[in-house]
Amino acid sequence: GAMRHLPYFCRGEVVKGFGRGSKELGIPTANFSEQVVEGFPSDIPTGIYYGWACVGNGDVHKMVLSIGWNPFYKNIKKSVETHIIHTFKEDFYGEILSIVITGYIRPEKNFDSLDALISAIQEDIEEAKRQLDLPEHLKLKEDNFFHLPEGKIVNNP
Ligand code: ADP
Ligand code: MG
Repeated sequence: GAMRHLPYFCRGEVVKGFGRGSKELGIPTANFSEQVVEGFPSDIPTGIYYGWACVGNGDVHKMVLSIGWNPFYKNIKKSVETHIIHTFKEDFYGEILSIVITGYIRPEKNFDSLDALISAIQEDIEEAKRQLDLPEHLKLKEDNFFHLPEGKIVNNP
């Protein structure tokens, strides 16, 4: 399952997404380019994950991440989208986003309403916050990956 790919380290540019209004829902998601997405293991399960994220040389924050097809919006493309649990003053398109995925929450689901989708995401965020405070996940916040020069990506624990 998902666990054997974790922790998963990844770095890449933040690109424009599909303009489906994540920000309007209060849950902006920073999208990786197709190129970066293609670098993911093809057998990594789609679903909702959590971990740590940092924009440029900024601070490391908690994040939730979705991998795969978005059933609610019936996407035609695979996507990797990171919602950083932090309020930024400005958008950061074009910047380098570094992430480490440390845990898996759930598979993708279909939702009957926008409200149901939003409350599921709020629950995911609360679950991520709790899990990331556990020593096993917290230790990755301090990983050298977040302080290494750009380009050096090591996907081994
Ligand atoms: P898009 O469809 O272009 O991905 P979104 O509505 O998902 O648009 O918004 C994503 C953008 O919002 C990111 O690329 C980033 O520049 C900005 N942003 C601001 N705050 C956050 C945050 N906390 N987490 C992720 N992205 C954020
Ligand atoms: Mg997005």
